[in-house]
Amino acid sequence: LAARSAEPYVRVYDHAADPHRPERLSLMGDLKEAIEQDALNLAYQPKLDPRTGQVVGAEALVRWSHPRRGFVPPDTFIPLAEETGAIRHLTRWGLGRALRQSAAWTAAGHDLRMSVNLSVRDLGDDSLPGRINALLEEVGLTADRLILEITESAIMGEPEAAIAMLRRLADGGVDLSIDDFGVGQSSFAYLRRLPVREIKIDRSFIQALVETPQDQAIVRSIIKLGHDLGYKVTAEGVEDGAALALLAEMGCDLAQGYYIARPLMPGAFTDFLASHAAGEIPWQVQARES
Ligand code: C2E
Ligand code: MG
Ligand code: MG
Ligand code: MG
Repeated sequence: LAARSAEPYVRVYDHAADPHRPERLSLMGDLKEAIEQDALNLAYQPKLDPRTGQVVGAEALVRWSHPRRGFVPPDTFIPLAEETGAIRHLTRWGLGRALRQSAAWTAAGHDLRMSVNLSVRDLGDDSLPGRINALLEEVGLTADRLILEITESAIMGEPEAAIAMLRRLADGGVDLSIDDFGVGQSSFAYLRRLPVREIKIDRSFIQALVETPQDQAIVRSIIKLGHDLGYKVTAEGVEDGAALALLAEMGCDLAQGYYIARPLMPGAFTDFLASHAAGEIPWQVQARES
């Protein structure tokens, strides 16, 4: 104990001393291989307009099924990929996969916009806007079909660089969305300079929405702020019908969450669209509204 209290209060992270280092290194190597071998998958979570019940988009979420470890969640391997720089390969792979899927759904007659997550490290990738335009052209989609999500904390980490990159992307016609809004120390000074079209309310405000007046006050305020700034507002993490109905009442534009659907593999996603269109999924949202 005496030795411990003699340590400096703030310690710099020491790679060499990290007991998990060998495991992390092997996981990073495996991830690189998985990207190269196209062994990752994307799951797609529907985005629903709670007032009309229409599915208007999908968010692509990466899935890694490790040959020995099984399912490894993105919250585990995305930070590793960011550290090694492999994230840029992952982002390119994800954009290609998601846009090809989007083109296939468009060809099948579905009118969906595709959302893809960017990481903080992508904001420093000068070749990204050009790559996105090339990919869009390759699959035959216009830029307005794509939405890029970036977390509030990623933007605020290096706001000037982020703004410059986001402007380039927006100039190319792609829509930008601020993810996990409300938990990332956003600065209104930067917020008003961002060429953003959507904000996504972090699911921590949505999870207990119906029974928590404070969360309701925050969500109402974010919706008002978003609308006053000209943004669409999406709620993430909607897990029950009562929350969905309340969000509709509050004027929230879009909703995502397990109550509507979990992230789905492409086949399951099209099954979902079919049963949804056939009215087999009871939403009760419109009924509640009247
Ligand atoms: P995110 O972009 O905020 O994605 C939403 C996360 O919430 C997803 O977790 C989704 O599965 C989960 N979720 C959706 N509805 C509900 C719900 O009703 N309840 C709960 N408890 N969770 C719900 P996932 O797929 O594990 O992804 C976690 C994070 O990893 C994402 O957060 C995103 O920041 C990152 N991520 C995922 N895929 C990618 C990717 O392809 N590229 C990058 N850069 N980041 C990604
Ligand atoms: Mg997201
Ligand atoms: Mg989010
Ligand atoms: Mg998140």
